[in-house]
Amino acid sequence: MATALSVEILQTLIGFDTTSANSNLELMAWVRDYLAGHGVESELVYDEAGSKANLYATIGPADRPGVMLSGHTDTVPVTGQAWTRPAHRLTVEDGRFYGRGTADMKGFIATVLAAVPQMQAARLQTPIHLAFSYDEEIGCVGVRRLIDMLREHPVKPALCIIGEPTRLKVVNRHKGKLAARVTVRGKECHSGMAPFGVNAVNYAARLIGWLENEARTRRDEGPYEDGYEIPYSTIHTGTVQGGTALNIVPNHCSLLFEMRNIAAEDPHHLLARLRAHADDLEAEMRQIDNGCAIDIDVTTEYPGLSTSEHDDAIAFVQALAGDHKVTSINFGTEGGLFSQALEIPVLVCGPGSMDQGHKPDEFIEFQQIEQCDAFLARLIARLAQD
Ligand SMILES: [Zn+2]
Repeated sequence: MATALSVEILQTLIGFDTTSANSNLELMAWVRDYLAGHGVESELVYDEAGSKANLYATIGPADRPGVMLSGHTDTVPVTGQAWTRPAHRLTVEDGRFYGRGTADMKGFIATVLAAVPQMQAARLQTPIHLAFSYDEEIGCVGVRRLIDMLREHPVKPALCIIGEPTRLKVVNRHKGKLAARVTVRGKECHSGMAPFGVNAVNYAARLIGWLENEARTRRDEGPYEDGYEIPYSTIHTGTVQGGTALNIVPNHCSLLFEMRNIAAEDPHHLLARLRAHADDLEAEMRQIDNGCAIDIDVTTEYPGLSTSEHDDAIAFVQALAGDHKVTSINFGTEGGLFSQALEIPVLVCGPGSMDQGHKPDEFIEFQQIEQCDAFLARLIARLAQD
């Protein structure tokens, strides 16, 4: 029974603390051994330091494009979260499995691995590729090396299914993201002589106001894209740090903001306009002190996903999922990178829900694991034909 094996593997995977800050090599070594035990060779694609890796494997005929099942092995931290159950040991309770990564997204990886014996037995006519990454949670960083490798590969996958938690709904779109840090360098002086200084907090506030105005314009005037709960690009400032004491005009202020963009919008246009506005402010600041400056640095960036509603891949995955709708999600995945770099259809469909992801007492329902096992069994049956 595949489900018993899925649960056993999930238990093993949850036992590895693969918070993005840690190495995932122990987990990957276990996966490689497991695959080798079933006669499947796999390849590791390491990070620069050699302390983390992606894994790629093909089951079935390697000379044909197949279906790539993709997932990330890293998880978000549990630091500062009030867990009432162990985070790195699987707890079974009332039809739920608790632990960090159960929903996002070791549940999917466990079901995929549990299906490997079936994949091997099925004499696949179309291969299945396994693509497991690292450092997804810090901005889809790790998978880029795997994609570079795949670009050079003689045979590229024909379709990619990202198993992020969607309760096995078929998802064809999510927004892209660009995050940046703005650093304002002003000029300090005694607050009683404020006009002789350059107040970095005030200039940062003007930039925040500018960003907020941009956000409002998009809400009121678009561009819009159907299929989203919020059908326009959002812009938001998340952190601000500046000033040390009330009686000092602050010489430093920094902020982090992000844009979550729809496909119609290139976030670099916003960035260029922000830069132009910052140049104007900088000129104003330098009338008082030449050392003043505003720096803008992109911290993370990944493209959105927008697979056409008319792509044949949608009907194919819908049949596997037993659901004939297509929907969007409000979180990002590695899907946009795969789709952009490899020019293949990418869909997101996996067990569990992001309502539980990134939270304390994260869990996945047993029934979702069962459903994903059935999804994979149908995939294997389909790929064993034609
Ligand atoms: Zn995830």
